[in-house]
Amino acid sequence: MIPEASYDIIVVGAGPAGSTAAMYAARSGASVLLLDKKREIGSPIQCAGFLPDASEVQALLPKADLPETLKNYPDSCVLRQIKTQCIIPPNGSVKEFAVRGTVLDRRRYDQFLVEQAARAGAELMVKTRATKVEGTTIETSGIFGKHTVKAKAIIGADGPNSLVAKSKGLAWKPESKETSVAIEYQVRNVDIDPDALEMYFGKDYVPGGYAWIFPEGEDRANVGIGIRSGMAEKGVSAKEYLHRFMRNHPLAAPKLKNAIIMNVIAGIIPVNGAPESTATEDSLIVGDAAGHIIATNGGGIPPAMIAGKIAGETAAEFAAGKCRLEEYDRRWRAQFGTALETSVQARQLMDGIMKSDTLMNAAFKFISPEQMKAMQCGKMPGAVKMGLQALSRKK
Ligand SMILES: Cc1cc2nc3c(=O)[nH]c(=O)nc-3n(C[C@H](O)[C@H](O)[C@H](O)COP(=O)(O)OP(=O)(O)OC[C@H]3O[C@@H](n4cnc5c(N)ncnc54)[C@H](O)[C@@H]3O)c2cc1C
Repeated sequence: MIPEASYDIIVVGAGPAGSTAAMYAARSGASVLLLDKKREIGSPIQCAGFLPDASEVQALLPKADLPETLKNYPDSCVLRQIKTQCIIPPNGSVKEFAVRGTVLDRRRYDQFLVEQAARAGAELMVKTRATKVEGTTIETSGIFGKHTVKAKAIIGADGPNSLVAKSKGLAWKPESKETSVAIEYQVRNVDIDPDALEMYFGKDYVPGGYAWIFPEGEDRANVGIGIRSGMAEKGVSAKEYLHRFMRNHPLAAPKLKNAIIMNVIAGIIPVNGAPESTATEDSLIVGDAAGHIIATNGGGIPPAMIAGKIAGETAAEFAAGKCRLEEYDRRWRAQFGTALETSVQARQLMDGIMKSDTLMNAAFKFISPEQMKAMQCGKMPGAVKMGLQALSRKK
């Protein structure tokens, strides 16, 4: 496939953010090139795949205009429907609340999203890497050769190490960037509750983060951890923490003792929210590239897609000469900027508390299941904030 010399919009990265942006831009009448360095869209997977139902996302982000592909997707993308969520503090006293959602087959879901973008008119180039971004010109290299392509607007949906963000001066400075290191296994032959998401806390198993067991079937699961390297014991890797959790955790180890590991997945999760600006006069960043992740739980699919819709529509308007591209920054912040910032503040408060299992047990004791659910989606009830502040002063 040979690309045209120029497009209205080039989207770098065909994950949930990029595919959603490309679909809405193409639907708005723009010519769009969507490229991804992956040989196969969605593979390798870098996600545990939990997606709350659209009604849950809408209830917690009431101002967000949800893309239709977040609300409706084929059953073939669903590995498991979820009914409950369990939070397990270090002392093991489980807190449970109802949650409606699915564990997705991310490979299939990403392919579904990309197909919708291409059917809407976006040109797709797989195994094609953006190697240089200069002004609104992109150099690409991959299976279809080397090309130089121009656009009116560039959308950087190229994940947490975004080349577009770096090239456009939009990235966090490395010294102020906060990331969580995640590693997970897809396992079979485990003795789990197939309807429940489980999240485990405790500094000896998951410093600065949590471990999860997300069901993918009756006896199948995604088991993983996300930790903050700065809070970990010196010389202990994320993989070693995951093994420690699977072998030694008093509640999890019995469920996982016969696990057959089928797949290893690793990635990083940006947890310090969006940089000061996410758009220039000719480029914007979206999804992980822009820190669009709920910092308290690492959930990035909904914000990436909500911002993806805004990115695609705004870039198409810009290409038609109807608005400035910087308008994108204002629009996404109006829809979920407060939730994103609140999740970062909650994460920062929890960082202090997570250094001590005693403080963590005390925190989980006074936060009700409903408040926990709200916190997962970027809300922090006043009473919780005051309680956490009081606890963090005790450390
Ligand atoms: C281990 C782990 C578990 C997670 N679990 C969950 C979960 O259960 N639920 C949830 O909501 N979120 C989860 N997340 C977060 C979620 O995966 C991301 O927030 C989400 O994928 C963001 O979508 P995106 O489109 O911004 O980025 P990505 O999905 O990372 O897509 C970026 C794309 O850009 C491409 N790309 C990068 N650079 C270039 C380049 N130079 N040229 C061409 N293409 C390029 C990549 O190949 C990739 O396909 C998890 C993350 C990790 C690491």
